Amino acid sequence: MGANITKAGAGPVLELVDSHIHLPAYRDPDPVLRLASMNGTVLVSCTVNAAEFGANLTLKRENPKTVRCFLGVHPSDVREEPPSQSLGGLVAGADGVGEIGLDAKYSDASPGSLQMKAFLDQLGLAERFSKPVQVHSRGSEKACLDALSSFRLARVLMHWFEGEEHVQRVVSSGYYVSVGPAILYSKRVRRVAAVIPAERLLTESDGPVGYKAIGGGSGPALIPSVVFRLAEVRGVGFDEIARTVKENADRFLS
Ligand SMILES: [Zn+2]
Repeated sequence: MGANITKAGAGPVLELVDSHIHLPAYRDPDPVLRLASMNGTVLVSCTVNAAEFGANLTLKRENPKTVRCFLGVHPSDVREEPPSQSLGGLVAGADGVGEIGLDAKYSDASPGSLQMKAFLDQLGLAERFSKPVQVHSRGSEKACLDALSSFRLARVLMHWFEGEEHVQRVVSSGYYVSVGPAILYSKRVRRVAAVIPAERLLTESDGPVGYKAIGGGSGPALIPSVVFRLAEVRGVGFDEIARTVKENADRFLS
């Protein structure tokens, strides 16, 4: 019996981590919250815009054992107004800043663009308040890493990171990488997952995103499958990976 399996009734069966989920994006987050609190899964909930800030803070307040609250403006939702205008007064009460980043799929992400300004603005806030950040870097991995390198940030999570050609830079920068359900069908994600140092690995669902390749499943119910595949890819036991990810999450959120 592994160290984090306990007898029925004695506590959580397994302590798992969903380090990147969007609870305010669920029409009804209650079933997700109930399942997570029952099995001791920590949900690190991110926002994509200021309209979600209040709901995310409320979810944390009402579920203090289960929910950690990150606040941020996603590259899909940047506006003229700098995010720090709505975020500045709330960031001290949040666990971190996210989901923030760059993605040219949504709009111009080049130097001087609204996206870049919003990203730098929020990284500045995270630095000032010593908060961890969660970064969306799809297709803009190098630009994100360049921007990050000009700030003093102790805890950075590259969420759903697929930038295989930049993985050594992520590793040498000491950044965390969260692996999600894409590990179940993507060889690229499996290759990234194989080379991240154990002490920097996290697991995520990005719920409510659904995964067509695996029949449309979504949310933290997929985390055990992610841990299972991660264990396989790295040649270690399920229990060992689950325990390592939990320790990493505690460190990332401390
Ligand atoms: Zn996300």
